[in-house]
Amino acid sequence: NKKVVLRGYVTGSPKESDMEVVTSSTVRLTVPEGSTAVILKNLYLSCDPYMRLRMTKHDEKNPNFVPDLVPGEVITGYGVSKVVDSGHPDYKPGNLVWGSGIGWEEYSVITNPQGLLKINHPEVPLSYYTGLLGTPGLTAYVGFYEVSSPKKGEYVFVSAASGAVGQLVGQFAKLLGCYVVGSAGSDEKVNLLKSKFGFDNAFNYKKEQDLNAALKRCFPEGIDIYFENVGGAMLDAVLLNMRAHGRIAVCGMISQYNLQKHEGVHNLMLTIQKRIRIEGFAVLDYGSSYGKFEQMVLRDLKEGKITYVEDVAEGLENGPAALVGLFAGRNVGKQLVVVARE
Ligand code: NDP
Repeated sequence: NKKVVLRGYVTGSPKESDMEVVTSSTVRLTVPEGSTAVILKNLYLSCDPYMRLRMTKHDEKNPNFVPDLVPGEVITGYGVSKVVDSGHPDYKPGNLVWGSGIGWEEYSVITNPQGLLKINHPEVPLSYYTGLLGTPGLTAYVGFYEVSSPKKGEYVFVSAASGAVGQLVGQFAKLLGCYVVGSAGSDEKVNLLKSKFGFDNAFNYKKEQDLNAALKRCFPEGIDIYFENVGGAMLDAVLLNMRAHGRIAVCGMISQYNLQKHEGVHNLMLTIQKRIRIEGFAVLDYGSSYGKFEQMVLRDLKEGKITYVEDVAEGLENGPAALVGLFAGRNVGKQLVVVARE
């Protein structure tokens, strides 16, 4: 059973050498009598920024909202798998599932399958359950429709806009009739935003001397909704450009994840003058929205109203590079790792 283990807790930017691919000679493919465990053959693994937060040791003074990974043990996360054997009444061999707690390994034994959901639409590419139809998709959906209170015609700004979550936020906002601008870290991504995802405008934040000026150029009348994925200097520049009664949905702050001390935000006083609502959210709280989200996305996908770009790494050996690549912006679209295709 080939697997990716965490070597030790990480400080600063994650490196490939923080992880190691090892092979253990034993692999259990049958569930012992009386057990309710499920044995999975893993197909697609999701690379998600929050996994970096799990690579830092947390304590009571510095708590995390997801459990830390354990050095020497297999990395776990979201993925898509096939049931090989099951002692659990809800799962049968051959079932396709997606969810959390899946090991970065060829086969996983899941003793508590609470985090697994059955895949009822095998006609859709299975890898979409790491992105479009998985957690990033639901995050984009609840963050936009439920947290941002959007209205037709509003001005929407999305950062990390070409990524797993951002590309969908932009498309949802366009479908609602909003004016949408995205920022991303390369000209290739900026082109993708405008030509493939239908953003009205986009800019490469790495090439801008002055983020405030870039936002003023794109939003002469200001921003109603900011879908926050990056934090840091971008948030400060956005605050200067928000309109009265604007909303900031704080989905993530990837620019801060590798820092031991988080940067401060300078322009928060503007929230009073402009009556801005800033709301952080965690997709974990929105499991009950999955059904209506899935129905909408499947319909829009079938009607050609939504598209999704993936960045596919082949094989567990390439998993560590794919995961650390998120923090250098190497991924174009949703980053995932293929362990096996069936
Ligand atoms: P992406 O697919 O967008 O990949 C991460 C991207 O972040 C990179 O490609 C890079 O794009 C950008 N990035 C990396 N480092 C920096 C930096 N220092 N400054 C600015 N941008 C940077 O990831 P996801 O779509 O999966 O996640 C997007 C955000 O959503 C993250 O912050 C994540 O933590 C958050 N999230 C939150 C959830 C919740 O429940 N609240 C659930 C899921 C995700 P570029 O080239 O544009 O720089």
